[in-house]
Amino acid sequence: MRITKIETAVIEANYDWTIVKVSTDTSIAGWGEAFFAPGLTGVIREFNEFLPGEDPRDVDRLARLMRTAMGATGTAGMGFHAISGVETALWDIVGKASNLPVYQFLGGKYRDRVRIYADCHAGKGLSSLSPVLLPRTPGWAQKTRGAGAGEKWRKDLSERVELSPKYHGGQKSEARKIRPQDYARHAVVMKRRGFTALKFDVDVPSEFSLDDYNRSLTRKEIELMAGLVGTLRKAIGPEVDLAIDCHWNYGVNDAIKLARACESFDLLWLEDPVPPENTDAMRRVTDATSTPIATGENHYQRHHFRELLERGAVDILAPDYQKVGGLLEGRRIADMAEVHYVAVAPHNISSPIGTMASVHLCAATPNFLALEWHAESVPFFDELIKGRKKPLIEKGYVEVTDKPGLGIELDEQAAYKYRKRGEPFFDQPA
Ligand code: MG
Repeated sequence: MRITKIETAVIEANYDWTIVKVSTDTSIAGWGEAFFAPGLTGVIREFNEFLPGEDPRDVDRLARLMRTAMGATGTAGMGFHAISGVETALWDIVGKASNLPVYQFLGGKYRDRVRIYADCHAGKGLSSLSPVLLPRTPGWAQKTRGAGAGEKWRKDLSERVELSPKYHGGQKSEARKIRPQDYARHAVVMKRRGFTALKFDVDVPSEFSLDDYNRSLTRKEIELMAGLVGTLRKAIGPEVDLAIDCHWNYGVNDAIKLARACESFDLLWLEDPVPPENTDAMRRVTDATSTPIATGENHYQRHHFRELLERGAVDILAPDYQKVGGLLEGRRIADMAEVHYVAVAPHNISSPIGTMASVHLCAATPNFLALEWHAESVPFFDELIKGRKKPLIEKGYVEVTDKPGLGIELDEQAAYKYRKRGEPFFDQPA
């Protein structure tokens, strides 16, 4: 069996869902997904220079070959996103060719269903960010001239698109008031849907912020954030786990103050309190509070996770399997965490393809805690699925499939409706 070509398509959802399709000289093709990055599909398609002609079942050697090919771009970053997408597609091929589910190749399963935690926000609709983290209205949601009856779906969906908050500086000037009762209402809805763990952002712009850039938190801001957590805890009760995310925004001292202010609410974790580059800074926060600290979504390959774990800088590890360099690399990272008795709660902002790939690895990971689902606001998440029952997530869990490969196919017709303009759609040029 030989690889013949590697193709990509981008679905414009809350992020650019970047889908990889690897074809072979048999009827088998594999699906993978890569974490978004500007220019990413061009990088993935470069692999057509050397992967065709290779046996797709030599997964680890081919992942190493791709790392070598990307060597001049460094040891982290979007080259690893590209490798992750292709590596996953290779596992899908291996599974389909041998009539076994992918988890069998990652050590076999520990569980028949994988616990999902829902990343939540207070809004009602889809908010979408471009690959450089700017708010956007997806192309499919934009009005087209001469729209006919077939455009009704577009109108219905575009009414559910909200403009995202700005990630770049200037948050203070655009402060949108987050109302604790909106968070609480949403949390109760998600609890009713069966989720046993929820995550909310607490790094929201507020009138109490004095500076966008100095990583400081005012006393009023900490009060507001702890109040948000308290309102959420009260709304969902003690039986649903609650995590909060800070997106690397704060300095060590104020991060510690925030983590301590949340201690009485018994959080599942506080995520990314300080920037990811300085392991000792993260360790200082982790050491100073009983609130568990999670990080990992901006780390790549096992080498970068080693220091985090060996230094005891983290309580819960959150690798992103569409980013770290592939599913086998993810398994190695989870194993390293296991050596330190650290649980793994993978980050995941993917379409059903990447989510299902992560599910296979989570099923095969003894020290697995919960897998993120970030797409609650994407109205067409389940529409993209073929080849298994929908919805993918039921009552807060994904059932682990025994079907060969990933056990999920992309509905290309559905995906085409939400494709990103200006990007190739598999064999169709941009
Ligand atoms: Mg996060």
